[in-house]
Amino acid sequence: MADRAYFDWNATAPLRPESRAAVLAALSHVGNASSVHADGRAARRLVEDARASVAALVGADARNVVFTASGTEANNLALTPSIAVGSQKTCDRLIVSAIEHPSVRAGHRFPADRVEELPVTAAGVIDLAALRAQMARGARPLVSVMLANNETGVVQPIHEVAEIVHEAGGLLHVDAVQAVGRIECDINDLGADLLTLSSHKIGGPQGAGALVVRDAALHIAEPLIRGGGQERGQRAGTENVAAIAGVGAAAKAARQALSTETPRMAALRERVERGLRATMPEVVIFGEESRRLPNTTLFAVPGLKAETAIIAFDLEGVSVSSGAACSSGKVAASHVLAAMDVEPRFAAGAVRVSLGWDTQEGDLERLQNAWIKVSASLLKQRGIAA
Ligand code: PLP
Repeated sequence: MADRAYFDWNATAPLRPESRAAVLAALSHVGNASSVHADGRAARRLVEDARASVAALVGADARNVVFTASGTEANNLALTPSIAVGSQKTCDRLIVSAIEHPSVRAGHRFPADRVEELPVTAAGVIDLAALRAQMARGARPLVSVMLANNETGVVQPIHEVAEIVHEAGGLLHVDAVQAVGRIECDINDLGADLLTLSSHKIGGPQGAGALVVRDAALHIAEPLIRGGGQERGQRAGTENVAAIAGVGAAAKAARQALSTETPRMAALRERVERGLRATMPEVVIFGEESRRLPNTTLFAVPGLKAETAIIAFDLEGVSVSSGAACSSGKVAASHVLAAMDVEPRFAAGAVRVSLGWDTQEGDLERLQNAWIKVSASLLKQRGIAA
């Protein structure tokens, strides 16, 4: 059995071997992708091959992929009043769902009084009736709804969201960071106008991402990073060729494996949840009644404290997280569970188990053995408290 079992794929996934090889090969290559000589052209080829692979993974046209330094940056780039179709600026208000990642909730460039929040149901799904009502009120908005939530894994009805948004003349941005490579994600089928993805969630290197647009006429009139014509003027700065080559290779591998990985992950996740309940029948799984990503379980039991549980799992060699783990490494209150109206006594104990293409039977055994110990100590505590 491996030294540790890794169940924190929604935080970051292991580098795929194909991606590692592509990064290393690109690092050995000299050449600025903007240079006209043969070395520059070879670097450009790496970037454009990667662009084609990323585009293929989400059913987009390669020329509509803008590489960024993260999913966070892609969200920041997308969420601006300066979105334009041709020469026409389009949106002067923003509607974001209550369960978006902080890079959407706080990363936009709209004035605070032009931003509205879209509620979700107790099942963690966007409230479509509320969206309809919000669309009818006021000017054409940009709407941002994630394809799958990073904490619960709940998959949002993006197709329906797109219909509502487009009927009212708005634009739709979809943060697909957690969904890409785990479920089918085609920008045209979804009806998204803009789509964000992140390299390190699909098995590429950390520190790379992309903003994808459906229609070449749509662009950001005031990009975040200016000063060069790279990425068709949408993101200045010499391209990180190695990281881009890595994300391209990861995208290609993820696309090839999607049809086998999705059901395999779902079967493993099913076993994880059976194991959790076999040991403690009162386990609550958030968003269970909704469609979820095949790799994610967010669960709690009354009395379980997330911070304590994560440390206890860690001591058993198992990496899990609190769904609400924030970038400072501390466990913060979950805005997602709050939006779902989850009682604080459950929300404070939410533990996220997320898996992926490299998760093996032995990892599951290790997780289950650790859970038996964690739950035994919880029962003991309850006995002392009683
Ligand atoms: N959006 C979602 C839903 C995420 O889960 C994350 C990262 O966890 C991001 C955006 C940010 O991506 P990155 O880590 O590439 O900045």
